[in-house]
Amino acid sequence: MAVKGTCKAAACAREVIAKGYCRQHYRLWKAGEMPKARYKICTEEKCLKARFRGSLCETHYKAAHAKAAAAPAAGAAPAAPPAAVAPAGA
Ligand SMILES: [Zn+2]
Ligand SMILES: [Zn+2]
Repeated sequence: MAVKGTCKAAACAREVIAKGYCRQHYRLWKAGEMPKARYKICTEEKCLKARFRGSLCETHYKAAHAKAAAAPAAGAAPAAPPAAVAPAGA
């Protein structure tokens, strides 16, 4: 009785493997062939993380922004000593 679940695609009773879909429908879902994906995931290839901003997951979103802001003024970074960091314990 305790069935893990069957594919939520119409007229499909295969065993669920992920996202509520069977192997076959999950593949379609990943390919964007299934209507209304229940979970928004990163559009980056082979990335199944949840979206963070826009169509990217947190990782890829940050990576994209790091790339956008990749105009590093090399050498301009102040080598400030960690004076603000108090040693633990007292
Ligand atoms: Zn299915
Ligand atoms: Zn991603």
